[in-house]
Amino acid sequence: NHNNIIDVLGEGIYHKLLYMLYEDLKKNLESNTIIVQSDSNKFWLVTDMEGTEKTAGKIVEIITRPKVINNIPLYVEYSVGISEEFNYHALDSLTAFTSSDICARQAHLKQFNYVVYDNIKQKKRFEYEILMSFNNAIKNNETYLVYQPKIDLKTMKPIGLEALMRWNNPHHGEIGPVVFIPLIEQTRLINELTNWVLKTAVKKIKEFYDNGIETVISINVSAKNLIDPLFFDRSMKIINDSGINKSLLEFELTESSIMANPEESKNVLTKFADKGIKIAIDDFGTGYSSLSYLSRFPVNTIKIDKFFMKEISTSESAQRIVKSTVLLAKELGYYVLTEGIEDQEAAEIVKEFNCDFAQGYYFAQPIKSEDIFAWYEEKLKE
Ligand code: C2E
Ligand code: CA
Ligand code: CA
Repeated sequence: NHNNIIDVLGEGIYHKLLYMLYEDLKKNLESNTIIVQSDSNKFWLVTDMEGTEKTAGKIVEIITRPKVINNIPLYVEYSVGISEEFNYHALDSLTAFTSSDICARQAHLKQFNYVVYDNIKQKKRFEYEILMSFNNAIKNNETYLVYQPKIDLKTMKPIGLEALMRWNNPHHGEIGPVVFIPLIEQTRLINELTNWVLKTAVKKIKEFYDNGIETVISINVSAKNLIDPLFFDRSMKIINDSGINKSLLEFELTESSIMANPEESKNVLTKFADKGIKIAIDDFGTGYSSLSYLSRFPVNTIKIDKFFMKEISTSESAQRIVKSTVLLAKELGYYVLTEGIEDQEAAEIVKEFNCDFAQGYYFAQPIKSEDIFAWYEEKLKE
């Protein structure tokens, strides 16, 4: 009932109330509890639970305690949602918050004191919803591409862009590709997805070209695309219709996706390469393939996985691996790109190793479609 409180009693009292709630929660829950105010009327708490029921009961008790501010007894309408699993190290720890939010909304609708997230059931339902809503997602313009620059380490100028997909889902908000791509890849929808990415990226290549800049744009291609018998013809039609210079388009494939079906992959990739399209091996170093095996494929660039960059400044073994991979890859005639460069030190180390290109937050985050041309043009001028 925060709107009511603000309307009737004013922002000042509302903020006092929030602070009082915060202090009560802080005092009465485990001492290592983290409390974040994530919205004007919302707290997110991370706490060690001695038992879900017990913790939930305690939180409800704290919220419903009488609160008196400036002699006015206030009451708080609330809803509580709980997610029992929170992994500090998991990439998707944010989903614990999102799922708590979903439960809080359910608690509100059903007028329960609190609702606890059923991980498995909800996950299945979430996955089902994602798959069901994906077809319309493209039609409804919920999906879009962002572009992360690739930098030439000799000149420090951009030489290309990687197109990365984003999805703003009307019910779940922004969903990352790490969440939805593996789901979509389990279905034939992955063909439509890549088809859309290709169409959108090719338009961007043309837009750059028409404005006087030739830049290579890479798209991520899935293993499943390579076993779709129509993939080659359908893609070539898009590429030919666009009239772009084919050497401005690059496909990124992870080594594991190539190794899933080496023969088929080789055939279809060779057909694309014969047309002038560039091929890069993504996430190199995380699979089991060797550079010598990859030499059977028509590959231009090896992208060394960002995993190795996490420790590149401190770990000698990470340095040795990257250094020797760059050396050997270049010996075999490939360009080498290191991804996940997050600071100047890492950038200097990979430059020292004679790596050609790099990508990472240190140079640029993925950039919105409407801003990328201006960014690129500016960098070329600098
Ligand atoms: P990827 O192809 O390896 O893309 C690189 C990922 O690393 C991107 O995450 C990017 O935002 C992130 N990144 C860039 N610089 C840094 C850095 O300095 N540090 C760290 N820690 N990360 C960095 P994003 O956009 O969430 O994409 C994740 C994965 O989802 C991609 O990994 C790719 O496998 C897949 N993906 C994204 N877009 C598409 C797509 O259009 N089609 C397909 N099939 N897969 C896609
Ligand atoms: Ca990639
Ligand atoms: Ca990668």
